[in-house]
Amino acid sequence: MPGDACLYLKPGRDKSLLRRHPWVFSGGIDRVTGSPGPGETVVVRAASGQFLGRAAFSPSSQIRARVWTFDEGESVDGSFFLRRVQAAASARGSLTATTNAVRLVFAENDGLPGVVADCYGAVVVVQLTSAGADHWRDTLADAFASLPGVQAVFERSDGDGRKKEGLAKTAGLLRGTLPGVPAEVFEARPGGERSVFQLDIDHGHKTGFYLDQRDARPVVAGLAMGRSVLDVCAYSGGFSVAAFSGGATAVTTIDSSAPALRLAALNLQRNGFPADGIVLADAFADLRLRRDRAEKFGLIVLDPPKLAATERDVARAARAYKDLNLLAFKLLEAGGYLVTFSCSGAVDEALFGKIVAGAALDARRDVHVVGRLGQPSDHPTLLSFPEGRYLKGLICRAA
Ligand code: SAH
Repeated sequence: MPGDACLYLKPGRDKSLLRRHPWVFSGGIDRVTGSPGPGETVVVRAASGQFLGRAAFSPSSQIRARVWTFDEGESVDGSFFLRRVQAAASARGSLTATTNAVRLVFAENDGLPGVVADCYGAVVVVQLTSAGADHWRDTLADAFASLPGVQAVFERSDGDGRKKEGLAKTAGLLRGTLPGVPAEVFEARPGGERSVFQLDIDHGHKTGFYLDQRDARPVVAGLAMGRSVLDVCAYSGGFSVAAFSGGATAVTTIDSSAPALRLAALNLQRNGFPADGIVLADAFADLRLRRDRAEKFGLIVLDPPKLAATERDVARAARAYKDLNLLAFKLLEAGGYLVTFSCSGAVDEALFGKIVAGAALDARRDVHVVGRLGQPSDHPTLLSFPEGRYLKGLICRAA
């Protein structure tokens, strides 16, 4: 459209957009015409003038623009956001048979860079992490509020990511009213029963719950029968509940966050399991202590936080992952299982495999990988956006 602000790329810098990768880095930009404000829509053009996409402008970020659409005929307006939100929500349709807690929108992977939305029952919790997403807050809130069954839209844009975009942290109710009772989510268990989890939408991690481990919980349940279990970095106890539901004889639940463990205790009790194995501790120190005491477990789950936020942190994070996995292998009884995860996108599957292999070697254990885990279907990854892949897990059996 005439009058639109335009962002012209340097010669040869159009390749990734032509492959439909949605990010425009500041170094690839030749010039900006017009004077777009943060989050406003710009047309991205190749040096030749060829249309590449309509994108949100992020003047403070290294990722200077994020593409909303590669289609020249599509404008970026209220109906665009409603279409994208509805398409993403309907792609999750089949999940609602087994749980009331679903990621509705997974940012770039759903064509909505900077927008994450998780639905817990009638409440949608959104995280807006880019200038573009922030700019369209009201439009997005209306789109989520219009979905069938939604009673409230709550914002949790209080992660550290917003700093890079020049945005302040913010949180609060955007639409509707929150249900009076604490929100609860349920997940189907193997065998037809349900696990129930209480959430802390206001203060919990991320948007309140680790939806991305939904597919791993039944796997842990399936390994737990008759075993003593160590759940390391347990947050609100998802894997501890799963382990008990699968027949664990005892579960030790470790986290360094007291509020997280308060939720874990509630969740264990709510599901009819004992909450006497909860330990507030730093995982590194606690596992070392247990190694020195020669403790043994039949199943260990290691789910540390994102230890590498960027490429620059990878070497340090690799050492930390190795330490934890090494300690875990030392704590495993013969024939025991370690289910170990990394949610750092910067540590790819191959590197994570090498780290865990190095840990097994140093622990002098012969270890087989008997299964691999990843993101569930409501955290889909667009093939043109490999950055969407972040969670990987290995199911290891030690001889
Ligand atoms: N397994 C959880 C999610 C884990 S998220 C689930 O399925 O829901 C990572 C957790 O690690 C957070 O709860 C965080 O409080 C905890 N954590 C971070 N650093 C830690 C440390 N050094 N020791 C123990 N726990 C830690």
